[in-house]
Amino acid sequence: LDANLFSEESHAIIDFIADYYHDIEQYPVRSQVEPGYLSKRLPDSPPIFSEPIATILEDIKKDIIPGLTHWQSPNFYAYFQANASTAGFLGEMLCSGFNVVGFNWIASPAATELESIVMDWMAKMMKLPASFHFSGGQGGGGVLHGSTCEAVVCTLVAARDRALRRLGHDGITRLVVYTSDQTHFTVKKASKIIGIPTSNFRELPTSWPLDYALTADTVRTAMEADMAQGLVPLYLCATVGTTAVGAVDPLFELGQLAAEYGVWFHIDSAYAGSSAICPEFRHYLDGVELADSISMNPHKWLLTNMDCCCLWIKNPSLLVDSLSTNPEILRNEASDANVVVDYKDWQIALSRRFRAIKLWLVIRRYGVANLMEHIRSDVALAKHFEGLVTMDERFEVVVRRKFSLVCFGLKPKFEACDRTSELNRQLLEAINTSGRAFMTHAVVNGDFVIRFAIGTTLTEKRHVDQTWKLIQSKATDILNT
Ligand code: PLP
Repeated sequence: LDANLFSEESHAIIDFIADYYHDIEQYPVRSQVEPGYLSKRLPDSPPIFSEPIATILEDIKKDIIPGLTHWQSPNFYAYFQANASTAGFLGEMLCSGFNVVGFNWIASPAATELESIVMDWMAKMMKLPASFHFSGGQGGGGVLHGSTCEAVVCTLVAARDRALRRLGHDGITRLVVYTSDQTHFTVKKASKIIGIPTSNFRELPTSWPLDYALTADTVRTAMEADMAQGLVPLYLCATVGTTAVGAVDPLFELGQLAAEYGVWFHIDSAYAGSSAICPEFRHYLDGVELADSISMNPHKWLLTNMDCCCLWIKNPSLLVDSLSTNPEILRNEASDANVVVDYKDWQIALSRRFRAIKLWLVIRRYGVANLMEHIRSDVALAKHFEGLVTMDERFEVVVRRKFSLVCFGLKPKFEACDRTSELNRQLLEAINTSGRAFMTHAVVNGDFVIRFAIGTTLTEKRHVDQTWKLIQSKATDILNT
């Protein structure tokens, strides 16, 4: 690595990215390319000799950008946003600039220690109980993973091994995982990975009158039925801010039930957990003190560029019991003396990125006050959009909004119910193919509805207003045909 060339070329790339952000509104938000487009444009073998960065950037402009769906466009309202920010980007640069691999403490003491400190900062920002803080003195602590999926796999493995120490290895066929029909499929995937029989994975029903929250009664009934069959409840996942509709499960009731049945209680707050830094949203985490673990993704809604998932756990030694390896080549005095955290034992991979420096930079550059403002302004925009929807009598908001996700659609009364889903499907496709905005859908109560997820850093009121006009005009076209 030549430091002078590095400086020259990285400036070129930064200018290129800055231009991209200047021009971002001119691109169709959802990529318009056909499958396989890229192999028609790129050579099928690699270059033998070095190519200049300017040529490569030209090709990125010509061939790659058309195949991007522009997640950072202010008119991106799909899935949940992947926040980008200047501090998040600069933090990511520092992370890959140093390119240290802090799998254990000695491999980069600052990487490990900063991660523990920043996890405590984040825990304090979300007002998590001291039992999840390193500094709480109760054995708890946090770790940064790349995704919720990895975090859930690790907690499930710890829960499984704890249960199997009691039941014996063959007990795995009896272990049951409980989720709701709104829980992110990450838990199902994790259960498959760790060997839970598919037939022992429960997706318990939720309903519209209860805002799609999982009730403790529903879980209790399911657990009792399973136990009567000789099965063993293992793990219960509650969600704060479900993916489809933004529902919140009642943590306190579910936590009490989990304790009564001796199951691991995990809270997935991938999207909405960030909002807990604002006092007015913190109540959605009431009951977190009963959880064994909680995860949330600053890369969704806390201005931290991909990837960054926080996982806190009350008893990390259970993770370490399941995930630790102690090869001779990694042995060192600090680890042997058991006076340090070796994060390799809190995750799946050995190698790990210095994500903590990114989150640390984000928190320091913005400060908690600006991060709170970021959440609040998105929620205010969502409220504004909701107001626009309710003012047009052809539309309705279909789920009570809690955060910055609005689920809406054309009202059934304008058409027979079964046709409403079809109309909403057509409406969504018309919006997305226009290239002027991108939204995705959910099926709620059997109906196809449109999700309007606000949170992209560049989205302002004017974008929401323009997009609403687009939605209205596409609806008029569809209803008139
Ligand atoms: N949980 C919830 C509630 C989500 O909304 C998502 C993604 O949108 C996930 C988990 C998956 O997160 P990850 O991609 O970090 O695994």
